[in-house]
Amino acid sequence: MQLTMALAGNPNAGKTTLFNQLTGARQHVGNYPGITVDHKEGQLHHNQRKIILTDLPGTYSMTAYTAEELVTRDYLIKERPQVVINIVDASNLERNLYLTVQLLELGVPLVIALNMIDVAQDRGIDVKAKVLGKLLGVPVVPIIARSGHGKKELLDTLLHVAEEQKDWIPRDISYGDDLDTTLKELEAEILSAKLFADTYPPRYIAIKYLENDDQILAKGKEDDAVTAEKLERRVEQTASHIHQTLDVYPEAIIADHRYGYIKSIIRQGVVTHKFDTDRLYTSDKIDKVLTNRLVGPVIMLCILFVLYQFTFSWSEAPVVWLDAIFGWLSGFIEKTLPDGLLKSMIISGIIDGVGGVIGFVPLIMFMFFGIAILEDSGYLARVAFMMDRIFRVFGLHGSSVMPFIVSGGIAGGCAVPGVMATRTLRSPKERMATLLTVPFMNCGAKLPVIALLIGAFFNDNQAQYMFLFTMLSWVVALLVAKFLRTTVLRGAPTPFVMELPPYRFPTLKGLLIHTWERTYQYIKKAGTIILGISILLWALMTFPGLPEDQVALYEQQRQTTLEKSSPEIISEIGSEPKQLSEPAMVLSQQLSHINNLKMEASLRHSIAGKIGTSMEPVSKLAGFDWRTDIAIIGGFAAKEVIVSTLGTAYSMGKDSIDKKESLGQRLKNDPNWNRVVAVSVLIFIMFYAPCFVTVVCIAKESSWSWAFFSIGFNTVFAFIFSVAVYQIGMFLGLG
Ligand code: GDP
Ligand code: MG
Repeated sequence: MQLTMALAGNPNAGKTTLFNQLTGARQHVGNYPGITVDHKEGQLHHNQRKIILTDLPGTYSMTAYTAEELVTRDYLIKERPQVVINIVDASNLERNLYLTVQLLELGVPLVIALNMIDVAQDRGIDVKAKVLGKLLGVPVVPIIARSGHGKKELLDTLLHVAEEQKDWIPRDISYGDDLDTTLKELEAEILSAKLFADTYPPRYIAIKYLENDDQILAKGKEDDAVTAEKLERRVEQTASHIHQTLDVYPEAIIADHRYGYIKSIIRQGVVTHKFDTDRLYTSDKIDKVLTNRLVGPVIMLCILFVLYQFTFSWSEAPVVWLDAIFGWLSGFIEKTLPDGLLKSMIISGIIDGVGGVIGFVPLIMFMFFGIAILEDSGYLARVAFMMDRIFRVFGLHGSSVMPFIVSGGIAGGCAVPGVMATRTLRSPKERMATLLTVPFMNCGAKLPVIALLIGAFFNDNQAQYMFLFTMLSWVVALLVAKFLRTTVLRGAPTPFVMELPPYRFPTLKGLLIHTWERTYQYIKKAGTIILGISILLWALMTFPGLPEDQVALYEQQRQTTLEKSSPEIISEIGSEPKQLSEPAMVLSQQLSHINNLKMEASLRHSIAGKIGTSMEPVSKLAGFDWRTDIAIIGGFAAKEVIVSTLGTAYSMGKDSIDKKESLGQRLKNDPNWNRVVAVSVLIFIMFYAPCFVTVVCIAKESSWSWAFFSIGFNTVFAFIFSVAVYQIGMFLGLG
């Protein structure tokens, strides 16, 4: 018979390392808490027994505050693994044992893997595994997960415990007179009502009621409303009594007693220090400089600057190659397929859409590689540490900084991996605030629009304006975060519990795996959805097509124009020579003018055109005409689409008889556009609804209601902002 086991422990205790060591599975080894949100499974054999091992997400506790904690708890209860391996960082014993105590209270058959004894030794800390095991009443096996030291003893112990302990034996810990009395009463009530029978031990449920555990409270109500009501009333009495007498909540007392329990054990000769505790270790020495109040931020800016230099310069060539490949593909289809819907769909729908996404892959890959270096070396945790003081003011957390940077906080990036990067945040509210504001950053797809409009309307000071709009995105993101944290996401900040892991050299293999995993996620998520959306958008801009009589009208115009010219000239155009003669040039331009008129009429007649023109009365308040509206709608599918849609919409129906103009010049000469309109459009594009792929990611990371919230909230916010800018700007006569 096979055995099921699970690995539980604090973030950075070495779970993933041990998991790989035991199962040989390939998996990311990160030093950021919470990367393994999904549990991973692997298998191994020992003494002819097959063991299925699960790597649970790293948690400090088993309350219902974070997704990781809930995942861990639910897994243990639902799957009831035969043995739980609790990996404990020997160099950080006290805090690691906090989770251990809760596992003991749950009663799971437990084996403690006392990890990082090498690190502890280096710091002069000696942990006596035998003594600790005796005091805790569970086997404690010292190991070094990284080298595999102690692996065999650990496996032997695991099998032994699996044989010996079949039942869950919850440990009783005293929480002081007041709470113990209440706990007993609650326990009796729970037992007689058979509440949560066969899942959690009664005392554990009683503690959860005292801790005000959302999940358990809700489940209790659902299962047995009457008993739940009784329990809650009893808890309320105790809570108010304690609040009156001690001015604290039961949660605090519970935490205090757990730490007290741990302290009392550790003091009994478990830990001995060999030398001065204030000795500086290498990492601490480096930190003296890198997280220095004054020098630290300067070094951080330099490092980030180098990261971006590296990303942009290295990805430049591959981006051009990919562009060329997709250009060639379009050309090839253009030549081989006959004109018609299929060809138009393949070129405008499929190749342009997917090409737009794939075109970003090199950039994203190099950036992820750079970020992986920062992360695996341990520096990223320092960045978060330094930024925490600033972010806290806005109701965010130091760990929010990376999602912002990944989303385009410096220049270029993508909100999709940015949204996924918010997983490292432990508090749900800070995480939601980060998740909802990262799309405000100027991602790589918005950059072309910004560059286009700045180039056309603010040609004299391009760099300054670029910087200005980058700063604006940060200011807006932080202020909106503050707004959300004081309204819909109100709540106390979580203390900055993330520890600073020691610095270490990243391994190339680790970096490559890490980079690939994230890039692949981007390709998969973006690729499939963009393809669908892009085809949909194409259809919206194509159908229902011009009515017959209008097509005939344009065809007739074409014929009349052709009839006016001699057959030689017509055949000259048909043979596509390098240099057209003067009359042929005129004819060709007249024909393309007619064609443009036809395309404009067709676009106006299309579903997208109808939507655009019907929006115009409202969007005019912010200075947008119907073509801009179409581009904005298209931008919801993917911001990359904005420039190309503007290009299509504004190439139609202009007097292109004159010369070939760039899109920028065309906008500049358009009566509907001026500097104020350009700023208004830019602001709207920067802050309105996140693109569709991002919205899907937000939904996957939180819920569809938050995803819809972000669409509505951002769009309304952006529109008000744009209208204000446009109206004030026009009033001041800046246009
Ligand atoms: P997790 O967050 O619990 O999954 O922790 P990881 O397995 O990602 O380990 C965090 C870091 O500690 C990694 O860089 C590991 O290489 C390192 N590590 C894990 N176990 C040991 C150990 O026993 N000794 C030392 N020196 N480092 C370790
Ligand atoms: Mg891990």
